[in-house]
Amino acid sequence: MPLDLRSAATMAEAAGILAADRGARLISGGTLVMRDVNEGRLTDGTLVRVLDPAYRQIQASGSRIELGAGVTLAAVLAERELAVLHPAARSVGGPAIRNMATVGGNLFAETPYGDFTVALLALDAQVMVLAGYGAARAVPMEEFLAARARGEQRLVVAVHFTRPQSPADFRFKKVSRVKPKGVSILSIAVHLPGSTGRIGQARVAYGAMAATPIRARGVERALDGRALDAAAIAAARNAALEGVSPATDAVASDWYRREVLPVHLARLLAGPV
Ligand SMILES: Cc1cc2nc3c(=O)[nH]c(=O)nc-3n(C[C@H](O)[C@H](O)[C@H](O)COP(=O)(O)OP(=O)(O)OC[C@H]3O[C@@H](n4cnc5c(N)ncnc54)[C@H](O)[C@@H]3O)c2cc1C
Repeated sequence: MPLDLRSAATMAEAAGILAADRGARLISGGTLVMRDVNEGRLTDGTLVRVLDPAYRQIQASGSRIELGAGVTLAAVLAERELAVLHPAARSVGGPAIRNMATVGGNLFAETPYGDFTVALLALDAQVMVLAGYGAARAVPMEEFLAARARGEQRLVVAVHFTRPQSPADFRFKKVSRVKPKGVSILSIAVHLPGSTGRIGQARVAYGAMAATPIRARGVERALDGRALDAAAIAAARNAALEGVSPATDAVASDWYRREVLPVHLARLLAGPV
């Protein structure tokens, strides 16, 4: 059977096609799907694209930010109200990739890809998923990533999160060998509410340190309720490797990733990147 492309006018229609045909696959920006097609890994079945304008909508004027899953990373970079996400968006590929790559596709990109998702995890984003004809359901990012690791693939229609109270509360760092377009050795995102006083409910996320982006719970515990001083940063650094299981790939060995993670985490916490 040849590869078939179907266009869905609404997100509900796309979800319906995916629910009825287990072999059907959504194509968003296509930077990964088309690579599979061009390199012969995907030769038959149905690709579904979403034409619904809501799929590409950005709502960023208030404290609640919502990004349609089809929003490209270039569109994120073009929106001033999304400055908090600009370092993470800019870290993905080069301009040609960012013009096509979408927020939704990044949620499914396998490690060491998924840099933008790391930022969304630290921001405690909710993922809006649609399983068929019906209402979309909000799933916490960690739960979504666990389901993805089990191979579940449902239509993501949007993500939303609450804007950090101060831009200084959120930091993102990607470490790569080739700049500016290299693949991640690792990425780190930290959201430290109250970072200029006492930190309340730190959220720290890593990319390329496990099969999916993960929370760094040991680091979060080390920072919660403390001022971001040298002692707190040292405690965070000591806890940096708790729960990590990085892979060895063409970019770095698991040993190297473990060696450099605490160094980059401490630098990110200590000041501007
Ligand atoms: C040269 C190159 C460099 C790259 N560099 C980086 C990088 O530095 N960092 C990085 O993170 N990534 C990188 N990538 C990977 C990729 O471009 C990005 O992760 C991008 O965000 C994927 O989005 P997409 O819309 O192109 O996904 P697609 O290719 O359209 O889809 C990818 C997967 O996600 C599924 N999917 C997409 N959208 C949805 C949805 N709404 N609901 C359900 N399933 C969906 C698709 O079915 C498919 O399985 C790179 C890729 C290339 C080719």
